[in-house]
Amino acid sequence: MKDIFCKIIDGEIPSTKVYEDDDVLAILDISQATKGHTLVMPKKHYQDFLSTPAETMHKVYDVAQRIGQAMVGVLGAKGVNVLTNVGEAAGQSVPHFHVHVIPRYTRGEGGFQISMKAQDTSSIDLPRLALTIKEGIK
Ligand code: 5GP
Repeated sequence: MKDIFCKIIDGEIPSTKVYEDDDVLAILDISQATKGHTLVMPKKHYQDFLSTPAETMHKVYDVAQRIGQAMVGVLGAKGVNVLTNVGEAAGQSVPHFHVHVIPRYTRGEGGFQISMKAQDTSSIDLPRLALTIKEGIK
């Protein structure tokens, strides 16, 4: 079954387009965490960031960067959050790779917050952890 973004890409569901080329589509997020919140996605279906080929991923992030620059240049954003969720555990709700570009006007405004709370690392062997990740890189 097609996911909702495939349906948008195929024109079966309306969207508000910000950018389009042969490979990439960017649309306003229906939820608008802040004014201008945009989703950038490949037209070809990939489940998420981790399963998207590098060439396609680079094209998506290139567009995300240019949209972020436009948010600062013409929307007056003072900053931008750029993020992608991978998997339900990370909050991904649409299984089609997409990057959120969220303009920020003042700290803490709108419906978007990022909070990274430091955890107690005393029981974690950090060098060993780094080595485990390093050895997993292909
Ligand atoms: P995720 O949670 O997968 O990282 O983000 C999915 C995003 O897609 C959400 O922010 C949600 O508001 C947005 N979204 C879901 N359905 C639609 C839709 O039909 N149109 C648009 N423009 N955005 C959608």
